[in-house]
Parts: sequence; structure tokens; C-alpha cells
Amino acid sequence: METIELTSALEQGKDTLEAIVKESGVQVTRCYQCGKCTGGCPVAFAMDKAPREIMRLLQLGLVEEALRSKTIWLCASCDTCSTRCPREVDIAKVMETLRIMAKKKGYITEKRMDLFHNLFLKSVETTGRVYEGGLVLGRNILGMQPFRDVHLGPSMFLKGKISPLPHIIKDNGEVKKIFANVRKRGGNV
Ligand code: SF4
Ligand code: SF4
Repeated sequence: METIELTSALEQGKDTLEAIVKESGVQVTRCYQCGKCTGGCPVAFAMDKAPREIMRLLQLGLVEEALRSKTIWLCASCDTCSTRCPREVDIAKVMETLRIMAKKKGYITEKRMDLFHNLFLKSVETTGRVYEGGLVLGRNILGMQPFRDVHLGPSMFLKGKISPLPHIIKDNGEVKKIFANVRKRGGNV
């Protein structure tokens, strides 16, 4: 069994942990490990580390382990954990911060999720809102799963959930400006 020397782990991960606390605005030491976040998380079943465990890794300074987890990519940013936390720890924000940091370090452990995020943002930047049809098509083709969920297409189309063409909003130049500003400030979108 691998043993980890916690004092040196905390020392090694100190700068990254400080950056996470600064970026997220969340004091990870506030977590008292009750597990309510994990209990309410709709995707905990698919995660390699539960939200509570991610918080514990950070408290112990094992930041690299948190950054390399699949959990941070599977998190759907639903905010359930943050809402349920009795210590008002904004875990969703921590997950987001870890995702951004992991991407900067090149640790993309769930490439399909990264692809989905990229296509989603590109769609919003281009048309001012999400073009679901294009998003699904792009995800299937670039994700090498051309027939994924195709059986759902006809009923979604008939119910007006997806349209064959994108709707471009008025003044979508304003949305493009937001993206340009985010990039200017170092955002990776
Ligand atoms: S709900 Fe809050 S206090 Fe409880 S384990 Fe999760 S982050 Fe920690
Ligand atoms: S924000 Fe992420 S970690 Fe929190 S409950 Fe939702 S999916 Fe789970």
C-alpha cells in the first residue's frame, strides 16, 4: 500500500492550495467532513472521488490528487452540494476552480467532458445562446461516437427541444465582447 508523508505533501502543495483558496474564495478548512455534499450529489455514483473526499484531499495538501481526479470533470455544477453544506462551503466553486487549474496544467482526465464544455462555449460565443443540435452533432463526431443518443433526436425535434438551425440572438456582438474580455484576463475559453 502506498504511504504518503502528509507534512511534506502539505508543503509541496502549499502554493497551489493557496491559489485555489484565493481563486475560489473558499476556505477548505471550514469543511468538517459530514458528507452531506456527497449524499446530495447527483453524479457522485460516477465519480472516482466523492465531493467530500476532494475537500479532504485539499485539507491534507494532496492537491495533485484532486487535480488529477475524474470528479472535477464529472461535476455538473448543479450547486446541490454548496446549498446543502452546513458549513457554507461553496464546493461547486472549488470544483470549478480545480477544473480550470487542471486544464492549465494539462490534466484533462475526462476528455469528452472537456470537449462538451468547449463546444458549449463556442456555441454561446458564436450565436449568443446554445445551439443544441450543433452541440450534439459536434460532441458525437469529435468524440468519435457518431450514433450516440441518435434515437432521442426525432422526439426531441418534434417536441421543439432541438431545431435544425441555430437561433442567433440580437446584439450577439455583446456576448463576443464578454468572451474577448475573459481571454484578455487570462481565461481559457
Ligand atoms: S457538506 Fe460541507 S462540511 Fe460537509 S463534507 Fe461537504 S463540504 Fe464538508
Ligand atoms: S455541483 Fe458538482 S459536486 Fe456539487 S452536487 Fe452538483 S455535481 Fe455534485
